[in-house]
Amino acid sequence: MIAKQLREVQNNILEACKKSGRDPQEVTLIAVSKTKPISMIEEAISAGQSIFGENKVQELCMKYDSLPKNLSWHLIGHLQRNKVKYIADKAALIHSVDSLKLAQTIDQEGKKHNRIVPVLIEVNVAGEESKFGVSVEETIGLIEEVSKLPNVQIKGLMTIAPFVENPEENRTIFRKLKQLSVDIKGKNMNNVYMDILSMGMTNDYQVAVEEGATMVRVGTGIFGERDYSKTI
Ligand SMILES: *Cc1c(COP(=O)(O)O)cnc(C)c1O
Repeated sequence: MIAKQLREVQNNILEACKKSGRDPQEVTLIAVSKTKPISMIEEAISAGQSIFGENKVQELCMKYDSLPKNLSWHLIGHLQRNKVKYIADKAALIHSVDSLKLAQTIDQEGKKHNRIVPVLIEVNVAGEESKFGVSVEETIGLIEEVSKLPNVQIKGLMTIAPFVENPEENRTIFRKLKQLSVDIKGKNMNNVYMDILSMGMTNDYQVAVEEGATMVRVGTGIFGERDYSKTI
């Protein structure tokens, strides 16, 4: 079942690339495995998937320890500063940096592991109150500060678009994030790369790819609905 759904998502990404004249090589699929058991992740691995996204530090660490070391684990959810120490050496990419303090903690923990930690800046493009992330207006200021930290490297931007019935409603959100990344890239700032644009989830990843996403984070579309009543 997972292999089939994974193929379907990959085909949809190919379609979106074709439609928008993009090279499919530019788009990386993150399989969001939060709340899902090891057995399901193993199925996805058998089907060729090696990049997974988790939104909780403890769960990421547990899965990291239980599975082969040739996988990549992305921390996609809100990150508390006191938990950075557990993942500074494990996360291939942290998608959710939204404050200088958090970036400073990542820098300190990265230093302990002699590692430059790759991160994305999370932007709350839609300005939803319930969401983490900096505003579009605050983004460049934050990036200027974070770029000075030697053990952190900014690789791009991430956003979580609103939940909408029709994914077309999020097209302008994705377009805004893309434009912001182009603007920032144009500033040629030291230690700032704008190669990654992490946007699009199960409901809207095709639209996100059409608007320039280089990483899509798909959970439900691969693993099915999540059941939060069960803990792993
Ligand atoms: C859960 C989650 C996803 C995946 O959501 P689906 O709708 O299941 O694809 C993507 N990004 C973040 C930050 C998430 O927390």
